[in-house]
Amino acid sequence: MKQIALFERQLHETPIVPLSAAYGPNEYYIKRDDMIPFSFGGNKARKAAEFYQEIKNAQVDVVMTYGSNSSNHCRIIANMAHAMGLSCHIISPEENREILYNTQLVADFGAVIETCPVSRVAETIEKRKQAYLGEGKKVYFITGGGHGNPGTESYVKAYREIQDYEAKNHIYFDYIFHASGTGATQAGLVCGKLLSGDHKRTIVGISIAREEGGGREVVKNSIREYLGKRFEELYEEEALIFTDAYRMGGYGRYTGEVTDTIEKLMREEGIPTDSTYVGKAFTGMCGYIKEKEIAGKKILFIHTGGTPLFFDLLNKKEKEAVI
Ligand SMILES: *Cc1c(COP(=O)(O)O)cnc(C)c1O
Repeated sequence: MKQIALFERQLHETPIVPLSAAYGPNEYYIKRDDMIPFSFGGNKARKAAEFYQEIKNAQVDVVMTYGSNSSNHCRIIANMAHAMGLSCHIISPEENREILYNTQLVADFGAVIETCPVSRVAETIEKRKQAYLGEGKKVYFITGGGHGNPGTESYVKAYREIQDYEAKNHIYFDYIFHASGTGATQAGLVCGKLLSGDHKRTIVGISIAREEGGGREVVKNSIREYLGKRFEELYEEEALIFTDAYRMGGYGRYTGEVTDTIEKLMREEGIPTDSTYVGKAFTGMCGYIKEKEIAGKKILFIHTGGTPLFFDLLNKKEKEAVI
């Protein structure tokens, strides 16, 4: 097994920078997790740094995961497995066969893609695991999106980075906003808040796909799993805000408002964002702030990555312009 030097040490903290343009009557900052220096960064890279240690300790032969092969998660895991000299096997839903830059990168990293209907995912994963075991190969399975305690832990660490930044710069962020998908990012941030008794701060997860009831429950379960025995003592319902008011019809769907936000962030801040996660969540944040009439606060938005998707959107726009 080869080492990835970057993941052998604690990740360097990512920059927190103020935004220049107006987004409402508050002061806005952005934490650039898209600048984590591995495979275009993002929250999946932050999570991968934790999974890296587990994979290393387990001495495995094959890294297996679930997800669309056009996803940021699969790009990062396939890249990490390749860099470690391990095989990567991805179980992917056959319903989504879009070919994006991530898809091409995953193929370039030599990952095996096995597709199956969404309804047969669990049994396909189990069958494949058993087949590898039968060949005498040890498998490490990563849940889709890097869900699970290592993924949560990575954002507990991000929360501590934010607190370090605040202490050094004599600032306090009243709100933290971010795109919430499978929920590990939000679970980690909320655990960070609960563990440090930081009652004043509000964390808002903008759902990019899931409906409120189910989506919130998944985040709560991740918090419970991470805190273990301390859950009953530390957990507060008010600490978990997961809004589906800006999901715009579901995963991958977006409005003209989102593309306007993406253009503004690129032109006026020099920050690339995508329409599935970050640009959509940033737009949602602006809507939330307007609706709740939040003013005079310090707001931190976390850029969770997805940079290759920015270029997919650019391609699409160019084609539309030509037609
Ligand atoms: C996966 C992803 C998210 C959502 O993170 P979760 O931890 O699954 O909630 C947000 N932004 C980007 C760019 C992602 O790739």
